[in-house]
Amino acid sequence: MENTIQNNINIMPDENGFFGSYGGQFIDDELKAEFKKITDAFLFYKDDNNFNDELNQLLKDYAGRPSALYYAKNLSSKYGAEIYLKREDLNHTGAHKINHSLGEALLAKKLGKKKIIAETGAGQHGVATATAAALMGLECDIYMGEVDIKKEKPNVDKMKILGANVISVTSGKATLKEAVDSAFNAYLNEYETAIYAIGSVVGPHPFPMIVEHFQSVIGKEARRQFLEKNNSLPDCIIACVGGGSNSIGLFDAFLNDNNVKIFGVEPLGKSARIGENAATLTYGSDGIIHGFKCKLLKDEKGNTADAYSIASGLDYPGAGPKHCYLQSIGRVEYVTISDDEAIKAFFELSRTEGIIPALESSHAIAYALKYAGENQGAKILVNLSGRGDKDVEFVLNEINVRHININ
Ligand SMILES: *Cc1c(COP(=O)(O)O)cnc(C)c1O
Repeated sequence: MENTIQNNINIMPDENGFFGSYGGQFIDDELKAEFKKITDAFLFYKDDNNFNDELNQLLKDYAGRPSALYYAKNLSSKYGAEIYLKREDLNHTGAHKINHSLGEALLAKKLGKKKIIAETGAGQHGVATATAAALMGLECDIYMGEVDIKKEKPNVDKMKILGANVISVTSGKATLKEAVDSAFNAYLNEYETAIYAIGSVVGPHPFPMIVEHFQSVIGKEARRQFLEKNNSLPDCIIACVGGGSNSIGLFDAFLNDNNVKIFGVEPLGKSARIGENAATLTYGSDGIIHGFKCKLLKDEKGNTADAYSIASGLDYPGAGPKHCYLQSIGRVEYVTISDDEAIKAFFELSRTEGIIPALESSHAIAYALKYAGENQGAKILVNLSGRGDKDVEFVLNEINVRHININ
């Protein structure tokens, strides 16, 4: 085997929830005892055979795992590389989010909770959570900014059909950041009967660890599938980074494969200026948001800045603590792709392979094509985190506004 194991990177945080100097638990004392219960339950159930049998059965028969590893032949020959796509877009509900939503809902049941509380931005996490809650017979409250509710009607309608309560948040900018604040406040009043199901590898310990664990199925499958097809590992792996769950889910299995380069792709949005992107690891500095320490986008006064990306699933001003750590030790390189580059990749994958990617995933595809151009013949594994159905109308409108010619 050409790839020997040389690194020794810890998958788990320390007992206080830190990955290096990032993560932790910056929350009210009142919640600490409850979070300890959740932590202990998670650490027990993650190695419990019955729990894992139940979860694996759902991942297989309900979500459709293992997701395929697809060799993108047309794209590969056009760009002079070997490009493989991990097809998370084929999952039930259309993205990787169902992986952790099922895990979180199952954990909620084991803890005897009656309700799941969650936030959502574009509505993807809300739909996945409402789906898992419907399946497991749990109540579901989804907090969503008023602005996002107007923008994301199809997802709001789906959540309602699935039986969730969608609660409109009107404070501040009335988008994702305020939705997290409101959901957390609601949870503070209900933690005895409810659980908070966060949408990415962010928030206070133990949430990043829990979501990472449930998403790590992506990399475990992909590494095995790649070895089966190629008898070797990829030269590099690529995934987009919002909060960082689909990417860490892919990366974990490869962290100790020293010869595999790892790239996290952040949204450059309109420009490198603060307020016009959501490239947290590229332009952020250390700070605390939503109960954990991470790289954070800040304005000139040092307050949390507004984040922006054309892909609403990527526009978060912080990033998962494990990513901040992996960047600090140089194991993962974080790069950027602009709105326009992502839109081009959205059409390129659609037209060369007949696969319409989510705008979030289009960032990863765009970087893969760039990398292929500079590294001819490279074996590249890209995580296709979700499908683009949700983005179709928006993209067609956007290419008019931006005067992008697609013919
Ligand atoms: C939510 C979402 C993302 C971003 O979230 P991560 O936690 O960074 O993975 C990426 N792709 C799709 C399709 C999403 O729905």
